[in-house]
Amino acid sequence: MGLNNKRKLILRTSVLEYYFANVKTPYTDSWVQFLGNGFNGVSGYMLHKPDQDGHRDICEINVIPPLRSGMSLKDAMQRLLSHPVLTELLSGSDLIKKMGCKWTCWSPIAEPAKNRVIITGDSASFQEVENQGAIMCGFRAAKAVAAEERGENGFEEYNRFWQESFEFNDPEVLKDTWKGFILRFLGKENIDYIIGLADGMFLDGYINHFKSGNTIFKFIKSQMSRIEKELPELADKIRDFDKFKVEDNIIGKI
Ligand SMILES: Cc1cc2nc3c(=O)[nH]c(=O)nc-3n(C[C@H](O)[C@H](O)[C@H](O)COP(=O)(O)OP(=O)(O)OC[C@H]3O[C@@H](n4cnc5c(N)ncnc54)[C@H](O)[C@@H]3O)c2cc1C
Repeated sequence: MGLNNKRKLILRTSVLEYYFANVKTPYTDSWVQFLGNGFNGVSGYMLHKPDQDGHRDICEINVIPPLRSGMSLKDAMQRLLSHPVLTELLSGSDLIKKMGCKWTCWSPIAEPAKNRVIITGDSASFQEVENQGAIMCGFRAAKAVAAEERGENGFEEYNRFWQESFEFNDPEVLKDTWKGFILRFLGKENIDYIIGLADGMFLDGYINHFKSGNTIFKFIKSQMSRIEKELPELADKIRDFDKFKVEDNIIGKI
């Protein structure tokens, strides 16, 4: 049907995640990021997860080796977990699960309902319908099919729901989302410096990771005159982010 023809590859990589239970973190409602390869040479994040299989206070630890380093994910995880920040955060916790997958992200299909087929959920996007969005896609797809059976235009309605409900269908939002991912390429010292600029300030949090890149960059931009004076090379790098193109920042092999 040609639905995949115009899609662009934006990411292809492997993922390794360890689940720990009984984690006594003060950041239960946060997405904690270990940015800039400053954690024994690697990056990663920590995310709180729902209770499962009789376990409580569960956190997922994800590791990100340096780009094109050839470092195995297992080695990278070992490095991350042995960093003092992690050993303190995970002290007294129990490793309960190890998970991995191949992760490939394609740009979204603009009109996933066509002829007699609906491509629902993540399969028409690059993962980020999220669990709640996936359930809604299934519900709306079933309604669309029932409507078509009644002779109504259910597929057109499904395409409208898809485009209006998911922000990744807007190329500008997709670009901003990816800006959040590339922040890590600034490196440990620069990231420490930028975060230091926010010391003593209160910044609004964000729960929408499509907006996170923009929120962080808005703060960085507000500090540009100071950055220009103190670290002009960093200021140049930040200005380069304005020329950012998703297709120039593919992570992994094509
Ligand atoms: C590493 C990672 C972390 C994530 N973290 C979160 C999170 O914290 N919160 C959140 O809300 N979302 C998260 N997501 C996103 C969320 O998992 C997805 O958005 C959601 O699972 C999409 O649901 P889906 O039903 O569209 O697709 P899937 O859950 O991928 O389901 C597709 C199913 O189809 C099956 N399948 C594929 N091909 C065939 C075939 N030919 N025949 C039969 N069956 C087939 C697959 O085995 C799979 O079971 C995460 C995703 C990843 C990859």
